[in-house]
Amino acid sequence: MSYHVLARKYRPRCFQELVGQEVVARALSHALEQNRLHHAYLFTGTRGVGKTTIARILSRCLNCEVGISANPCGECSTCREIDEGRFVDLIEVDAASRTKVEDTRELLDNVQYAPTRGRYKVYLIDEVHMLSGHSFNALLKTLEEPPPHVKFLLATTDPQKLPITILSRCLQFALKPMTPERVVGHLQQVLAAEQITADDAALWLLARGAQGSMRDALSLTDQAIAFGHGALVEADVRTLLGSIDRDVVFRVLDALLAHDAAAVLAVVAGMAEQSIDFAGAISELISVLHRLAVAQAVPQAIDNSEGDRERLLAIAQALTAEDLQLYYQMALHGRRDLPLAVDARSGFEMTLLRMLSFRPDTRSPSASPAGSSDAQKAGAAVSVVPSVQAAPIVTAAPVSMPEPVIASVAAPVVAPVAAPTAHTPASEVADAHPQSRLMAGDWSAEAWAQWVERSGLTGAPLNLARHTYLHQQPNSAWELRLAPQFQMLAGGQAFPPLQQALARDFPAQAIHMSMVDPEVETPIQRRQRLLAARRAAAEDALRNDPVVKALESTFEARLIPESLTLTH
Ligand SMILES: [Zn+2]
Repeated sequence: MSYHVLARKYRPRCFQELVGQEVVARALSHALEQNRLHHAYLFTGTRGVGKTTIARILSRCLNCEVGISANPCGECSTCREIDEGRFVDLIEVDAASRTKVEDTRELLDNVQYAPTRGRYKVYLIDEVHMLSGHSFNALLKTLEEPPPHVKFLLATTDPQKLPITILSRCLQFALKPMTPERVVGHLQQVLAAEQITADDAALWLLARGAQGSMRDALSLTDQAIAFGHGALVEADVRTLLGSIDRDVVFRVLDALLAHDAAAVLAVVAGMAEQSIDFAGAISELISVLHRLAVAQAVPQAIDNSEGDRERLLAIAQALTAEDLQLYYQMALHGRRDLPLAVDARSGFEMTLLRMLSFRPDTRSPSASPAGSSDAQKAGAAVSVVPSVQAAPIVTAAPVSMPEPVIASVAAPVVAPVAAPTAHTPASEVADAHPQSRLMAGDWSAEAWAQWVERSGLTGAPLNLARHTYLHQQPNSAWELRLAPQFQMLAGGQAFPPLQQALARDFPAQAIHMSMVDPEVETPIQRRQRLLAARRAAAEDALRNDPVVKALESTFEARLIPESLTLTH
């Protein structure tokens, strides 16, 4: 007995045997049972998902000698001839090889004649999008007025290339690509029927290698059976497909997560010993990183189609989204630059080491590892969010700079001006009103600003206070000066709380407000000046940070100064 390739031997002969296209099978079965058939069907989908198989089943359903039904007998000569591809009224055309208008015309000229043996003449035009414009016009004329004894079954991988006039005259079915689960399930049945042993990992590899095509899965399985002398073993299949052991990629990720450079190098050395293709490995790494990103965004979207769900979810939890995005970007660059490296191994190694050294430090500065950059030591936590666009954007937030040192105010305990009442010891006054010591000595803009910030005021009263200056004059009432243009700040309920705070801290002092320009730096001006200085210093520190510099040169990243956030 001659050996039939699996794809042909196990080609479904009725809708029940059809794998993975239940929706289409049910719709067509109902149409057949109720005898409500369209004259033209269009099946779309990637290669090997069953477009022509469905078309052939449909032509059996239409022409079976027992009668039109969703369950052709499979025994009559018509059923068998269709199976064997020699039924006279099933005209199969591969449009990819017959694109000329003459071909189509010749084909369609015969449409008007009644079927020779069957009930219907069935035209199965595969890859119909390959027809020329003239051929489409010829086809369109027939579709507009189809003879009752003709059915058109069109199949294409690329429906977008079909003229809208054709599309609108067909009943369209979009066939879904086969999920790896579905392929594995089908392969298990086929191999059981063939009495061939196979391990699960090998089947998953084949299913992934088939990329949604059942036909490809079956022909790959054919090859694997021949390669493995009648059995399917993972290692053989891996060699056959040239696929990378995904476990290696997970070991790489584990080492990266542990921030363990030695472990990373050890994994790479192991890969070199196994002669693993590093270009393939980097692609595999990219695809795992993509799945990790999906796992982080929508965990339930991760199926176990690649047999790695648990491991994937665990890593997705351990990795920050920023790290992941950065790794992905670096892996893409690594793949691009691989041909430039001295050899593939060193290129791969460099990519991983880069991931280690560029790992954004999202932990607290005190926990940063030895050898981290100066900026990190200074307390700047740099968070890097690269984008996949042409110019990745680096944002840095938050950057905490050391508080500017404020010169301490020389403060004798006893205030010469705010003399305490006779029966209260001077030290108690100072303790009760620690702020009062500020007014001693040089009453500077700085001291006033400090009082304002520590006054406990909030909201509008604080804002008002920040725009004032307390002008102190010996032996007379003090002036709380507010520039006339800020007069409106003193309106409403803003002034009374400020008054109370002043009375609390300077109980013996008469203070009145005057609308004159303070002529010294007010607390608000001081804040703005210091903030600008801190921002400039932070920007400077970041610009000179070696990590940022490397990001800029390697990833065409640019620093966005406006994105800096200063923490207080
Ligand atoms: Zn039949």
